[in-house]
Amino acid sequence: MTVRTRFAPSPTGYLHVGSARTALYSWLYARKMQGIFILRIEDTDAERSTQESVQAIFDGMQWLNLGYDEGPFYQTKRYDRYREVADQLLKEDKAYRCYCTKERLEALRAEQTEKKEKPRYDGFCRNRQDHPNTPSVIRFKNPQGGVVEFDDLVFGKLVFNNQELDDLIIVRSDNAPTYNFTVVVDDWEMKITHVIRGDDHINNTPRQINILRALGVTPPLYAHLPMILGSDGKRLSKRHGAVSVMQYREEGFLPEALLNYLVRLGWSHGDQEIFSIEELVKLFEVKDVNRSPAAFNPEKLLWLNHHYIKTSPPEHVAAELAWHMQRLGIDVSNGPALTELIPAMAERAKTLKEMAEKSTYLYGDVQYNDEAVSQHLSAEAVPVLAAIQAGLSALKDWQKEAIHEVIQQVGETLALKLGKIAQPIRVAVSGNTMSPPIDITLFLLGRARTLERLAVAQGLAEKSEASRQ
Ligand code: GLU
Repeated sequence: MTVRTRFAPSPTGYLHVGSARTALYSWLYARKMQGIFILRIEDTDAERSTQESVQAIFDGMQWLNLGYDEGPFYQTKRYDRYREVADQLLKEDKAYRCYCTKERLEALRAEQTEKKEKPRYDGFCRNRQDHPNTPSVIRFKNPQGGVVEFDDLVFGKLVFNNQELDDLIIVRSDNAPTYNFTVVVDDWEMKITHVIRGDDHINNTPRQINILRALGVTPPLYAHLPMILGSDGKRLSKRHGAVSVMQYREEGFLPEALLNYLVRLGWSHGDQEIFSIEELVKLFEVKDVNRSPAAFNPEKLLWLNHHYIKTSPPEHVAAELAWHMQRLGIDVSNGPALTELIPAMAERAKTLKEMAEKSTYLYGDVQYNDEAVSQHLSAEAVPVLAAIQAGLSALKDWQKEAIHEVIQQVGETLALKLGKIAQPIRVAVSGNTMSPPIDITLFLLGRARTLERLAVAQGLAEKSEASRQ
């Protein structure tokens, strides 16, 4: 039997990291089992579904590199099929038309609430024979006795009393099918073998199983994933920071860092923290998913991101860094190759956004930080900058080693320690006090820009000295 899993988001906002984890688990399991992963867009909520949100799902999945084998299927394009199945259920007396008015249902609800009973439909239209010419919905005839039982792959055996489940609406009065019904028809027709989804759907599962059985279909296996919490123990939401997948991209995370972080939220393999995708495909098991909710820890995600920045091939990181550079309006052809920049900056930036922002001086104008200038570009700096400029102008080859030697020689001639020399040069060429080792910084910046900035900085140093006196 081929394993078939699906990711079935409702396009009603950005792609939440919790949904991304659901997608990842479904994707991993399909890959592990050499099965099929399906994308289904559950866009039946006309008021809340938007094209923009559909795009956010595609963008997020593409960025995370979670490719699907079938789909995307849109539920709104399958309305005819849902109605056919509803008609079949009506014909087989497994569903019925309900003509109860809103007023009657409201009164019923009020009465039940007052009696402290769980509000549920009382089956008033279940056996009625007449067909009034008034608006109606279609309700499923839920079994009235017994239990629904299933072995959840995460939570184990779950048992629900049929008496708790009322006759749910499967088609509304405007002919629109409802969520529990569309999911059933789709999971059946798309031959889904494993439904992996958030545990907010646990109470829907017995209803869906009942409908599947009424259709004569063997239900798939279910795995419900515990939710992701914020640091305060409440469900992860915007209050806790970024929750949209693409926001993590904007903040400078690598997709593999986010995936590695998400997979560990609720699943583990011993103490191992870092997993390549290939390893995950091998090691991931739905049954090893933890039952208790996991808390989102931004620090750990940042740590993982830094790890991937430092250890991934620069060519790979470069593609993502280029995106950030472009967002900052930087023309990367106007400076060092990103593959050279990345190893120089990897220790100094935990995100690619930070790396891009701290590297703009290599590709365009330098922005001088006032404090750095007043602290490091003083009278003492003038001879240092002048000597360095003279030494570097004479260099034939713009190579790290040669640059390093010039700096060292200037230090010896002026009897100054390297630290005393490096900071004024750094501020002179980068405008700030943080950059890669100074020889590498100058190498990356190139001869023309370096010499030009050393000259400008001498002017700045003289001017600041004059204004001090
Ligand atoms: N569309 C549902 C949601 O976004 C998921 C349905 C399912 O996985 O069964 O919550």
